[in-house]
Amino acid sequence: MKINRLDSVMLELTDFCNLSCPMCDQSGHRGINTTRSIHGYPKRFINKSLISKLLENIKTDFKRIDNIALFWQGESLMHPDFTEILERVLEDIGSNKVIKSFLLHTNAILMDKKIRNILLQQEIKGSAVHFSIDSSCSSIYNIIRRGGDFSIVQNNIKEFLKLKKSRNLFHPVTNLQFIVMKENENDALKFYRYWKNFLEEINMDYSVSSDIVYNVAPVCIYFRKLGTGPETKSEIHCSYDNVLQIIEMESGIDLTSKKNSIEINIDKENEVACKSAWYSPVISSNGIVTACCLDMKLDYLLGNIENDTLYEIWNSETAWQFRKNIKKRKYNQSGINSVDNPLLCSNCKFLI
Ligand code: SF4
Repeated sequence: MKINRLDSVMLELTDFCNLSCPMCDQSGHRGINTTRSIHGYPKRFINKSLISKLLENIKTDFKRIDNIALFWQGESLMHPDFTEILERVLEDIGSNKVIKSFLLHTNAILMDKKIRNILLQQEIKGSAVHFSIDSSCSSIYNIIRRGGDFSIVQNNIKEFLKLKKSRNLFHPVTNLQFIVMKENENDALKFYRYWKNFLEEINMDYSVSSDIVYNVAPVCIYFRKLGTGPETKSEIHCSYDNVLQIIEMESGIDLTSKKNSIEINIDKENEVACKSAWYSPVISSNGIVTACCLDMKLDYLLGNIENDTLYEIWNSETAWQFRKNIKKRKYNQSGINSVDNPLLCSNCKFLI
């Protein structure tokens, strides 16, 4: 069987970041000035020609890709050719119709007028932009988003939202993200009030949520639980439930009933064991294809788009053997994580 329809392709434009946040696996414990990436190779910017090659392959060999995510471990807007790459991807979405939408996560520090204008060029259904903010004031922002400038971030996001309103766009759905941590838990209510007031001032519809929502309103004030990956520092966890209750009381919106629900549509026909390993390749900034966005160390190395096409890699013997191993729960707990021994999957909540 050949897979030619994908839920998403995650494409890392760079693993450099301009911040060093305590909760981030990429920068938190390695420091902003280090060049060694969490992937285990020197940090880099993806080569533009590699992106062209990928997009050509997508056009030729794939029937449908629901979403292209232009980020993974770094801050994508740092890429020196970011605007060119973004324009090329959006052009492809509009013209060849294989890729249906885009997704971007950014800290918004470098989101200047030109980038805002490109992101808000047209209504692309299913698209979304997430802004990592995490605070309502510079004193807390400086503790969490180390190396950033709160007033620039706030201004860039407000200008983005005003432009979006003036163009009457629903998409890209805009998530104003607040990751709840010990450092900012007392700031959550102020964050909610700040953005609520601003959105009402510009007459923009919005939702408030503890889940990512893409079709409720053009903007979402999103309270996110801190990830619990092995690299995340335990001391920055806090009572997420308490924070949600406070926001619920203030907003009158139910945030807890659907909290942490993971909806997995089981693909009975193809008997998938994990949607990611079947339908969501991840490509690092050096072209390596892995089967999972949780695989920071690139242990699930399936190939490199410098040498083969994504279609070839995703349908290769190695990829199918990996999927078989997941399905059969073939792990050796004393071994190391790899395609042949997918230990990372052994206690994964996404395993069906
Ligand atoms: S089961 Fe979990 S760790 Fe394994 S590929 Fe799927 S999402 Fe990744």
